[in-house]
This record gives sequence, structure tokens and C-alpha cells, in this order.
Amino acid sequence: MKKKKILIVPIFIPHQGCPYRCVFCSQVDITGARSKTDQNHVLEVLKTYLGQDFNSTRSSKCEVAFYGGSFTGLPMDRQQILLSVIKPFIESGRVDSIRVSTHPLFIDSERLDLIKICGVKTVELGVQSTNAQVLEESGRPCSREELIKSISLIKKHNLNLGLQLMLGLPGDNEKRFQKSVMDVISMKPNFVRLYPTLVLRHTALYSMYKKGLYHPWSLKRTISALKNAILLFKMASIPIIRVGVQPDRSLKENLVAGPFHPSTRYLVDCQISLDLMIEKILSLTSLPHKIIFKVPKNLISVYVGNKRENISYIKDRFGFKDVSLVGEEYCSGIKLVA
Ligand code: SF4
Repeated sequence: MKKKKILIVPIFIPHQGCPYRCVFCSQVDITGARSKTDQNHVLEVLKTYLGQDFNSTRSSKCEVAFYGGSFTGLPMDRQQILLSVIKPFIESGRVDSIRVSTHPLFIDSERLDLIKICGVKTVELGVQSTNAQVLEESGRPCSREELIKSISLIKKHNLNLGLQLMLGLPGDNEKRFQKSVMDVISMKPNFVRLYPTLVLRHTALYSMYKKGLYHPWSLKRTISALKNAILLFKMASIPIIRVGVQPDRSLKENLVAGPFHPSTRYLVDCQISLDLMIEKILSLTSLPHKIIFKVPKNLISVYVGNKRENISYIKDRFGFKDVSLVGEEYCSGIKLVA
């Protein structure tokens, strides 16, 4: 049966509910939103996304998502007011669920009881790293024990759990990032998001960068670390629902440095596909002049690689005259046929 598409209605609450100032964070620059989010704004966004004649016989599921701040860090009455705007839409069947993202230090039973009653089904926590030094250098006060306590409360409330990780933060390296990935896997989230660290204007990281105290990771280094992370999450059957920030105008205007690419996930998938092709070739006892791979039809572009780089790399490395890819409808993996 075909899976229902999910319509996400994004509501930005930039930096609201958050008393912290993580060195990398400039939520206003990322989302472009400057005013305080109120009921009218929530209603306006809902109307824009749902449309006037939106009805419950729709073919897509609909989820309202609060992003950009620490939702559960807002005063309880404000959380209730914002969520109550969506309640009638849930009751009429036009909205299926709500998700909020927040800081692990703003999780307790009282807050979870409230948001659950109001229709929230998913809580996303910004973990960013599980390494104490990386967290300290990044201005994020949250111990491992506090994180684990928040996660277990979210699970006890039967809410879906999403965890967000960053790579390339101050003090981070491949080993620490991989340990963060393993730690997150052990926390068994329902899904994860992965974000390379970018230097944005109006952040402490920008000042550090200008003084030469922070050096962003290169795109190559980032793709390589992401590749390992994605393989580990795949092995643990944990879905990765986002890699890299949304490339919108506000972000582009404020981006100063860092491994930004509009299709980061695609580049990582190309790299993973290249490794699979190389593995197949290395399993041959002798090398032919030309080679054909059968791959899933919908994945041909990741096997070809960005700007056909995978094909060029294989030709150069192994000296093939020709490398062909045949897309197959019902093919689950890659097969080397010649
Ligand atoms: S906790 Fe979130 S919203 Fe607050 S400063 Fe850090 S990244 Fe920004």
C-alpha cells in the first residue's frame, strides 16, 4: 500500500522559550522570523497551509511543527494558548498531530502532560553532542544524566522521540562525533536529524571564527563523517529524516563560512554508493575492460554521483574503458553483472 504523504505546517518560534545562547545559534537568521509568535500567527500559518477548502478526505497526513526555539521552555500558559489554536483542527480531523522541538533541560512530567493533552505526539530534543567538552565549548549546559532523564520521561509519556545531532562544533572531531552517534543510537530515538555546524552572522561562533579560534570543517570532512554516521544509523534501523539545514534565503544571506551544500544528503548518498561499487569491483579476481552495474532505478543518480564524479573516479582508479549503470525496477541493492 502506498504511504500517505505528510504535509508539515512549520511554525517558527525563533529563540523563544530559550534562556541560552549556544555559540552557533542564530535562530532569527536561520528562520528569518523576528516577531514573537502568537495565536494569530499560528492561525494564519495554518490557514495558509491548509487552504480555505481543506477537508478531512485529504490524501496526505498533516502535522504542525514548532521549530526554532525551546517550546517547552515557554511559560506553561503560553504553550497552552499556542497549542489550543490547533486543537479544533485536530478535532475536525484536518490536523493529525503536533511536534515540538526543545532543549532537554526543559522536560519534566508536568510539561509533557500538558503538551500531550493538547495533541503533541512528537518531541525533538537538540542533543548536538554527547561530549562534555564539545558541549561546554558550544555553550550548551546539559549533562548526559540530564539528557537521559529527559529521554526516559518522553518515552514514559509514550511520545515519539526525535534527536538532533551536530558535527563540527568547537572541540568536535571524528572520534567524538562517532561516539555521539553511538550514544544517540543507544537512546533508541524514533528518528534523528543531522546538522553540520555553520558559521552565521550574529553568533558567538562568528566572533570565534573571526579571531581564528574556530575553524569550520571542510565539506569533504563533513561528508565523510556523515557517511559513517548514516551507515551506523541505518544499521540500527533509525530513520534519518534530515541532513543539513534548509537552504532558504535568510540562511544564505547570513552564512559566513562552513560546510554548507543545498544537497548534503545527496552528496553523502553518492559517497556511500561509490563505496559499494568499489567493494564489488575489489571482489573480482580479474578486472574486465568494461563493467556494468544493476542498481535500483530510483537510485541511479546517487550511483552516478554528483557531476558524474563516481563514474569518473571508478574509470580513473581501475582503468575501465566503460562503466555503465542499468536501473532496475525491482532491484533492492547493487549487482555487478560484467
Ligand atoms: S538551545 Fe536551541 S534555541 Fe536556545 S540557543 Fe541553543 S540552539 Fe538556540
